[in-house]
Amino acid sequence: MAEPVELPNRIGILPFRNKVLLPGAIIRIRCTSPSSVKLVEQELWQREEKGLIGILPVRDAAETLSVGSVLTQGTDLGDRSSKTVSDSHKLDGKSQQEPIHWHTRGVAARALHLSRGVEKPSGRVTYTVVLEGLCRFSVQELNMKGAYSTARISPLDMTKAEMERVEQDPDFITLSRQFKVTAMELISVLEQKQKTGGRTKILLETVPLHKLADIFVASFEISFEEQLSMLDSVDVKVRLSKATELVDRHLQSIRVAEKITKKVEGQLSKSQKEYLLRQQMRAIKEELGDNDDEDDDVAGLERKMQAAGMPPNVWKHAQRELRRLKKMQPQQPGYNSSRVYLELLADLPWQTTSEEVELDLKAAKERLDSDHYGLEKVKQRIIEYLAVRKLKPDARGPVLCFVGPPGVGKTSLASSIAAALGRKFVRISLGGVKDEADVRGHRRTYIGSMPGRLIDGLKKVAVCNPVMLLDEIDKTGSDVRGDPASALLEVLDPEQNKTFNDHYLNVPFDLSKVIFVATANRAQPIPPPLLDRMEVIELPGYTPEEKLKIAMRHLIPRVLNQHGLNSEFLKIPEAMVKLIIQRYTREAGVRNLERNLAALARAAAVRVAEREHTVPLNKDVHQISSPLLESRLAEGGTDVEMEVISMDVNNHELSSSSSFRVMSPLVVDEDMLEKVLGPPKFDDKEMAERVSTPGVSIGLVWTSFGGEVQFVEATSMVGKGDLHLTGQLGDVIKESAQIALTWVRARAAELNLASAEENNLLERRDVHIHFPAGAVPKDGPSAGVTLVTSLVSLFSRKRVRSDTAMTGEITLRGLVLPVGGVKDKVLAAHRYGLKRVILPERNLKDLVEVPAAVLGSMEILLAKRMEDVLEHAFEGGCPWRQHSRL
Ligand code: ADP
Repeated sequence: MAEPVELPNRIGILPFRNKVLLPGAIIRIRCTSPSSVKLVEQELWQREEKGLIGILPVRDAAETLSVGSVLTQGTDLGDRSSKTVSDSHKLDGKSQQEPIHWHTRGVAARALHLSRGVEKPSGRVTYTVVLEGLCRFSVQELNMKGAYSTARISPLDMTKAEMERVEQDPDFITLSRQFKVTAMELISVLEQKQKTGGRTKILLETVPLHKLADIFVASFEISFEEQLSMLDSVDVKVRLSKATELVDRHLQSIRVAEKITKKVEGQLSKSQKEYLLRQQMRAIKEELGDNDDEDDDVAGLERKMQAAGMPPNVWKHAQRELRRLKKMQPQQPGYNSSRVYLELLADLPWQTTSEEVELDLKAAKERLDSDHYGLEKVKQRIIEYLAVRKLKPDARGPVLCFVGPPGVGKTSLASSIAAALGRKFVRISLGGVKDEADVRGHRRTYIGSMPGRLIDGLKKVAVCNPVMLLDEIDKTGSDVRGDPASALLEVLDPEQNKTFNDHYLNVPFDLSKVIFVATANRAQPIPPPLLDRMEVIELPGYTPEEKLKIAMRHLIPRVLNQHGLNSEFLKIPEAMVKLIIQRYTREAGVRNLERNLAALARAAAVRVAEREHTVPLNKDVHQISSPLLESRLAEGGTDVEMEVISMDVNNHELSSSSSFRVMSPLVVDEDMLEKVLGPPKFDDKEMAERVSTPGVSIGLVWTSFGGEVQFVEATSMVGKGDLHLTGQLGDVIKESAQIALTWVRARAAELNLASAEENNLLERRDVHIHFPAGAVPKDGPSAGVTLVTSLVSLFSRKRVRSDTAMTGEITLRGLVLPVGGVKDKVLAAHRYGLKRVILPERNLKDLVEVPAAVLGSMEILLAKRMEDVLEHAFEGGCPWRQHSRL
């Protein structure tokens, strides 16, 4: 680079449109116009030793010149520095019709790299050339006649001697130093930014400054005019001062740009942006009058959490979650779920207990007695349970589990326990729970996850030591979603329930202070491990006498009170209650009875309320017209779901009003019963009517509602000897029917059902057996004896006794096997007014469970073989015996 370049006299010229190549700079050009392609081909590509070409800036004539000089064709320049060319010279493939201006100074360039493009079908080729500017020249003469322009030129760079002379010039020295300082500064600024590691600094040491000036300026983005003036600065001093000016300007612009970026960055840092937006939001909220301030809310939540008394590990966990919440925006996904979760943590009764009163056993007993009639054994057991708790409050006694049909007082006993202990009562319904998550909650990763029923119940009751009733624990099932029973096991296990883990809560909760009581309709479906942790207390159904007492002592006063009435307004005589029990209810418990009484109370409440409008008072209450009541009665409004209309306020008004007191009360009579409750649903004649034809017998079955009476109907018709069974029967009961038919057919002759010669009972006929209440599914083996009895009755055309019910499984040989649920079945028979019950002999032991009052009013007949059953089932004994007597 230091060596001056030998320039030829004549050089091929490549016009450079509106651009300047300075010495030391490197450019890449694609040559497409025929003249430039020719130039490259002849001067560079085809030569052995690559030659030089001249790069001459040109500008469109349209742009007026302000700097530099312009050439015109064929003119000797002399002093004139400008020349206008007007021809159809093509520059880079663009047709130039208007005159173009050629600059008088250019730069000789050498090709660093040459590449030839693929030849087009039209024969056209293109070249890409990388050129390095070497030294300035001035154009003496421009010749544009050939395939490309050529020029006669003379070099402008100083010779060595000249250069040495200039270097002595003090002006030059000062300028050089100045340039060097500025250049140094620029380099260090750029190095800071780009971390080039001092490579550019080396240039300063090695390259002569006047050349370096060109190189620096070439790297800036400056205007064409400035580039031209740089090219025109042939004098090195001028060149250095111009370069210093440009470098300095560039330096300044970098600094200013930097300052601006910093300023902008500083102004709008992320937090500031958020702050700004928040301020705006607050202003908008204020404007809207929407003042629920989220920040205050969170602070409130924090205070609530602090007051919740969480154990240390839970508190730590809660604080972590709270910190997360504080960082979130309310609109952010997850904010709400996090909040709801923290609210739950704050609401849970970690330490809050209801004040435990000193347990007074006598008062507890009185309370149990006053709330519940009868149930002596159950009450005794509850008192024992309470006594143990009194002596040892943290005793881990078994969990009481009340088992019995609906409406026998299981729930109300449990709530009495709570009242006796002075604790709050919460009922968790487990009926139909199949998903473990119902007990234990869903993990918070699930959308819409919530805590399990236990934690939810505790949140509602707001103390950690309530009496918790696990209702219908026998109705939990298990399926693919896990086994709720296993979660309940953990709940009921005193060892494990100290750290009960709800999936949603995700921190342990201490359940050990909770007193659990469970209820179930049957003990049998409860999984054995669960049953093992509980003490089963059975509550059999009530006898009609017991129901009467319960109704008179407990249900009627309560129902009247609930309806804002008292005995001064409505009297339900004992005889009427008896009728309700007999004709309108057939249940083990007293729920329907209570419903029916409530229906009467509602009807009476209507009358009393209406009377306000029909005063003056009429002493004869029955005569008072009551359009509302009449219309209700006309609808036959029975069996309405019990709704409690609280009329306490009214009641108060009514009872304080002396005018009403003088009224005689409304006394319920049979007439009113029928008007309010509709025609009787059951009556004593039903049995007799239903068994009035041969082929019908009365069985006893066992359901989750307690015992029930089940009729079996058999009939025969012309056919091919088939057995038809209907009434939603299960496999076991179907097989029982087969066995029964086989047994009867095998003994057809003995029983005198068919003559000895043709003893095929099914000769040209089909038998159809139906179990009424066809919509209710039935199964089990205990209908065996009933089936046989109905078949014998059918074939012998003799009616079965209408006062006798039976139960028992049979074998093919006619043995009667014992069955389950005897107590409930006997009670059911009693309820239905049946006087005699045939039971398998081996069930004798089960009779001890049956209340003595029931046993006393019934005849229990024991059977060992099928023949014994038949003997008891027919009036005057078994048909065949009767026959043999003849
Ligand atoms: P369960 O829980 O067994 O289904 P509940 O406890 O809900 O039955 O009882 C139904 C209604 O019958 C309640 O109002 C209850 O007070 C009442 N009840 C049941 N048995 C008795 C009883 N022995 N004495 C007084 N009321 C009773």
